[in-house]
Amino acid sequence: MIRIAIANQKGGVGKTTTAINVATALAATGWNTLLVDLDPQGNASTGIGVSAADREYSTYDLLVDGAPLRQCVVGTSIPNLDLLPATVDLSGAEVELVSAEDRTHRLGKALSVENPYDVCLIDCPPSLGLLTLNALTAADTLLVPLQCEFFALEGLSQLLQTVERVQQRFNPELGIIGIALTMYDRRNRLTDQVSEDVRSVLGQLVFETVIPRNVRLSEAPSHGVPALIYDHACAGSRAYMALARELITRLPEKRKAA
Ligand code: ADP
Ligand code: MG
Repeated sequence: MIRIAIANQKGGVGKTTTAINVATALAATGWNTLLVDLDPQGNASTGIGVSAADREYSTYDLLVDGAPLRQCVVGTSIPNLDLLPATVDLSGAEVELVSAEDRTHRLGKALSVENPYDVCLIDCPPSLGLLTLNALTAADTLLVPLQCEFFALEGLSQLLQTVERVQQRFNPELGIIGIALTMYDRRNRLTDQVSEDVRSVLGQLVFETVIPRNVRLSEAPSHGVPALIYDHACAGSRAYMALARELITRLPEKRKAA
């Protein structure tokens, strides 16, 4: 199972939207996919249609109580796509785990069991705290959604420093699969400028696919389905399908055969 963390310590940059829709696109191509909700807000869980009442076990139980993966996972309405849901309890996990010796490795250990998945996407909370550290320690690689706005690059350097720290201390194999520009608005000159700047600094690391600002993407979660299901032909859905294809081409050969 290849593990991809979707992280950026800024809130509202499109992490959850990216996690849900890329997971759906991968599932649609036949990959057995697990979406891990690592944000106490549980937006990925709600957005994929798993209500709070259906989250008997969650990432909290997995991380804090050592509940086994298969017990915590639930199915979704999308074929090939399962969810490890999050509840508000997870907000206490950072404090409860603070003195645990293996506190940064909990998620990695929990995912390192025999399981039926080809790929797992981890939707991180908007911080660089213990939960995100767990995701980066557990992950093979990182996907960073970057909103096309003026301060985008500033936050990114802090994230890249954290990645370096994780590589040095916890997970030398951690890679960066790419940076995805989100909420691109071609009517806004500033977004164009930001996108140009980001590409000139980060070059090939930036995915060619750009996710446009698209109202269908923001409507879908309230219907409890990924945008890809809500309106598969809208510009946002098409962009996420293209992003998933591009992501697959960047994965190592042996994984692509999965
Ligand atoms: P994060 O997980 O980084 O906090 P979200 O994916 O939840 O970000 O997105 C923040 C808000 O912006 C949500 O209301 C979401 O529906 C909306 N949104 C995300 N991506 C887009 C987009 N490309 N176009 C329009 N709205 C978007
Ligand atoms: Mg989110």
